[in-house]
Amino acid sequence: MTALATALADESLGGRVWFYTNYHCNLTCSYCLTESGPKVARRELDRATVLDLAREAKDLGFSQIGITGGEPFLVTDLPELLAELAGVLPVLVLTNGTLFQRALLDRIAPLGDADVSLQISLDHPDPVANDVMRGPENFRKVVEAVPALLALGIAVRIATTLEDGDADDLPRLCILHRSLGVGDEDHVVRPILRRGRAETGDMGVRARYLDLPPELTITADGAFWSPFAPTVRGGSLDTDLLLSRTVRPLQRPVDAMITVLSGRPEGADSTLNIR
Ligand code: SF4
Repeated sequence: MTALATALADESLGGRVWFYTNYHCNLTCSYCLTESGPKVARRELDRATVLDLAREAKDLGFSQIGITGGEPFLVTDLPELLAELAGVLPVLVLTNGTLFQRALLDRIAPLGDADVSLQISLDHPDPVANDVMRGPENFRKVVEAVPALLALGIAVRIATTLEDGDADDLPRLCILHRSLGVGDEDHVVRPILRRGRAETGDMGVRARYLDLPPELTITADGAFWSPFAPTVRGGSLDTDLLLSRTVRPLQRPVDAMITVLSGRPEGADSTLNIR
């Protein structure tokens, strides 16, 4: 058994390979790890690269693909890329859920028959409190988008990011996501991570690399330890959790990941529930 196969089998390495399709976003959330916004550098990964690396990931034994950014649905051909990726491995897409107007819903309708799930951010059961952190109309757009996506047959998860573990409003938020058609098993709750804009704004919990579940993450700038690693602060990419500038062949960053994994202290499991 190879070191990679062993790491995947004993789950010391996550089975999902993440791709940052882009870094720009239509929102400017106050805790954004990547300082994303409408005017930042796009840093896009092109469609052919993502597809090639996803096929390599499957051949190496990985079991899932994750897509994140930035807001992935700002990438022009994302629906077509997702359809192709789903033919390789199951796909999870992280999205702010604000772009699903009729035209985009029509384009992604075929994904209802594909193995593609969307994870949509929703932080608070009250529109005002939610939108203070994430932007105007965010709440309304999300609560409209979720039932529309489910009606297309597309699986939806809700991700809630909390400041300092403040869970007082969680019961009402859970009532809301259930009313939208998303069950408790598809609700992810995690703390704000003190990187990117959250660090500038003095928010969130500090995490060492040992606190972040290892999941190989590919960006236009290289391969990283976790999808929470290729963060941006003051306009500059953080490279403290960079594994390799080279991403092709995928075996190169995989080898770097295995080297770091093998140097971790015994029993050093992630502790902050950051997913
Ligand atoms: S947290 Fe997500 S939705 Fe908010 S600005 Fe960053 S990338 Fe965009």
